[in-house]
Amino acid sequence: MRQYLEVKGDYPDCLVFYQMGDFYELFFADAETAAAALNITLTKRGKVGGEDIPMCGVPLHAVDGYLTRLIQQGHRIAICEQTETPAEAKQAKKTSTKQPLNRQVVRVVTPGTLVEDNVLVASENNYLASVFASDQALVVAVADISCGDVAVESLARIETAPTKSQAKTSDKAAGGGSSKLVDSLAEAIARLNPAEVIISDHQPWLEEALSPMLASNCLMIRPGKDFAHGASKNRLCALYQVATLDGIAKLDQGEVSAVGGLVAYLDATQKDRPLRLKPIRKVMGEAFVDIDPATRRSLEITRTLAGEKKGALLASIDKTLTAKGGRLLASRLARPLRSATAIQQRLDLVESMLMDADLAEGLEADLRRMPDIERAFSRLRLSHGGPRDLDAIARGLLVARHIGEVLANTNAKQQLLPAQAQLADLQKQLVGGGDVASRISRALCQDNLPLLARDGGFIRVGFDPALDEFFRMRDESHRHIAKLQGDYATKTGIANLKIKHNNVLGYHIEVKPKQADILLAEAKTKGEFIHRQTTVTGVRFSTNKLNESQRKLAEAGDKARALEVKWFEKLATIVMEAGEAILAVTEAAAILDVALATARLARQWNYCRPQIANDKQLTIIGGRHPVVEQTLANNQATPFITNDCALDGTERMWLITGPNMAGKSTFLRQNALIVIMAQAGLYVPAADAKIGLVDRVFCRVGAADDLASGRSTFMVEMVETAAILNGASKQSLVILDEIGRGTATYDGLSLAWAVIEHLHTTNQARVLFATHYHELATLESRLDGLACYVMQVQEWQGEIVFLHAVKRGAADRSYGIHVARLAGVPDEVIGRAEAVLAIISASNDMGQRAARLPLFNEAATSATKEANQADQHDPSITLAKNLAEAVADLDPDQLTPKTALDKLYALKAMLDRGAKQ
Ligand code: ATP
Repeated sequence: MRQYLEVKGDYPDCLVFYQMGDFYELFFADAETAAAALNITLTKRGKVGGEDIPMCGVPLHAVDGYLTRLIQQGHRIAICEQTETPAEAKQAKKTSTKQPLNRQVVRVVTPGTLVEDNVLVASENNYLASVFASDQALVVAVADISCGDVAVESLARIETAPTKSQAKTSDKAAGGGSSKLVDSLAEAIARLNPAEVIISDHQPWLEEALSPMLASNCLMIRPGKDFAHGASKNRLCALYQVATLDGIAKLDQGEVSAVGGLVAYLDATQKDRPLRLKPIRKVMGEAFVDIDPATRRSLEITRTLAGEKKGALLASIDKTLTAKGGRLLASRLARPLRSATAIQQRLDLVESMLMDADLAEGLEADLRRMPDIERAFSRLRLSHGGPRDLDAIARGLLVARHIGEVLANTNAKQQLLPAQAQLADLQKQLVGGGDVASRISRALCQDNLPLLARDGGFIRVGFDPALDEFFRMRDESHRHIAKLQGDYATKTGIANLKIKHNNVLGYHIEVKPKQADILLAEAKTKGEFIHRQTTVTGVRFSTNKLNESQRKLAEAGDKARALEVKWFEKLATIVMEAGEAILAVTEAAAILDVALATARLARQWNYCRPQIANDKQLTIIGGRHPVVEQTLANNQATPFITNDCALDGTERMWLITGPNMAGKSTFLRQNALIVIMAQAGLYVPAADAKIGLVDRVFCRVGAADDLASGRSTFMVEMVETAAILNGASKQSLVILDEIGRGTATYDGLSLAWAVIEHLHTTNQARVLFATHYHELATLESRLDGLACYVMQVQEWQGEIVFLHAVKRGAADRSYGIHVARLAGVPDEVIGRAEAVLAIISASNDMGQRAARLPLFNEAATSATKEANQADQHDPSITLAKNLAEAVADLDPDQLTPKTALDKLYALKAMLDRGAKQ
């Protein structure tokens, strides 16, 4: 207990898994927490201060599953292992046999530092992020130790560091550029989706800013000294074994600190295992399309609005066959490119795979057999690996070599392929694994490999003569024990006498209680049989001969295991020495996988290669929504109706009206998704697509509360709208669906009106704007870059048929009641709504326009004046004006009851005359 409490004292915020033989035990509050979290039995062991010590435990061999569940529930776990065997402890001449074995924490398992295959999702990166604010910039560093990636990126520039309270809000008035900092941080967090984030305790404002963006327990506050520039630099130089970091990556001070803090945390969690990471990748943010968190959410790129993977873009288009390929596709979709050359390169490779179907088919067959070499390699590099990881690497390298050979043999044909040079490079990378695979395969058994090297039994017979000798001795002892069973059965006349093995007694003789008398009598005379144990089902004995065989067996087994572990280490070193080449193999295989997957998707769903240009057009012919199209096809519903979109420098804004359920949102999103897919280097769901490079995509679709950060539905809508108006450039694509719906009609209409004007004239971005405010269509006459489009419907026998087709024009009604009926709103409510609509419509022109008048009068723009002039010729407007003026002239305090009644009659008469006109 003393030893345990010392360990626990060092890891107060972790559940301590304390190894006792074949179990990890937990005590005190840890036991209570874990028992509840894992639904396992809470027992007790011993007492402290007269109180029982709560305890629970999990078996060593099944620990991964329990770890996963605890990590998912936000716990951190310190694994405290026995670091000596009982035999070693005895050899070390411990005075008392009761003295505990040495134990120490060998690893701290946290959400961001997982490496186990069965805990991780194969096609997703598991990022640990470190956020650091230097004097100049806000920096994010990320590492995925399951594959050794590490990258750093400077986000927004810092003019003045925000105070703690300013970080809470993205309100501009709160202070300087803090809203920009928080926004860029939110963008990075949404994009990376880190499992865990660390920050320095010297920068408390970051805690305030990050907490609302992360799940509980994902944020770790680390000592500021871990991020100190000098110490960080030294730590990184030591990690990469270099005297200066310049050869690894050109990092500024803030970036060194961010990565330094990250590495310090990894060191703290990995304990004595030497940390090895790939060279630091410095990410230049301007190379990628900016997609803010709201846009990412609205477009449902990796998850749907409900948080599901199914139904999101990634799941619908991911046809990759390898785990690393899946991760690469996800990261490409998360960060589409801004460079036409880089995009073309990706597209060329896809086109090559489409041109040579035989080649593609052969490569796919190989890729299906490709294990996750990258994660296996990383586990070995972090000393968490085992024989199965060696095997995975060997198998993977062989598959890669075969792919490389196939590519080499198709060299002649490659002359025709657009990606000829790329394929030649990939081919070289794929065969670059040298003889690592054959060296591993020669040594390893073919199947039944153990998870851990220390379990032994993975080196082939015939590989190492010394090991074979131990195997021979071990087999001989086995045979001898088997022979002893026969000898003792004959000698005692007990035919069913058995020699068995268990962890407590080792090898022993077992007979049924009824048959035990002879042996018990013999044992009493101190003969050959030694009585060890009596149970309900059997009586157990040992003999000196049996003990001797067991000793020899154990000795041979120990020696064999020790030698096997040495071989494991040797093979792991061979792998590490070829590390760079092996990682290049994984990279090349993943690039091919993504290209093949894209080609297959394109073939299956008839996607086209987008044309990328450095202009402002967005011309999509026969565009489809990749997810809705598949859903309709899977449900065997009517096929998806394709639609065109044609924006350019002159007609850069489409205002789309149309009934509910007509397909406005679908159309808006499909165009944004097509742009994102194209700039990610993918084929797109269209017959033809010409895409002028986009620098940022903004999408605001629908509205949701963000109660956690204290924002109402309308506030969320306006915050997102503000981000668009402040951030969209001439190169941006803006998708706006239903601006201003969350407030009073006229407030909403006015806002939508002003937002359109601003986007058109100031931002000058390409914009698709869907609305139910049909009044906005009048803007077409005064904003030269705006055109109105409408979703077509047909009325037939009182029913509405949605045609889902976009055509020039504007809608005059929304058929909302019709959609409500389709949704199952009770008939009496529908009937009443229709009656109310009829009444409102009868007074519609007069009432609405009368109310609209002051709005237009207030808006001191030429457009509203024009609108007013047009309205002057409208009799209902004239009537409304006259009525309004007559009422305005009244002073109720000066009226007698008689004159008041007269005035009322006069007004009524004026109304009646107006209605007749
Ligand atoms: P609301 O105004 O009520 O938000 P909306 O006009 O935005 O409606 P969507 O949500 O885009 O309508 O589409 C409604 C449904 O119509 C979709 O879920 C889809 O099933 C179907 N749909 C939309 N576009 C198409 C299309 N082009 N082809 C076939 N079906 C479509």
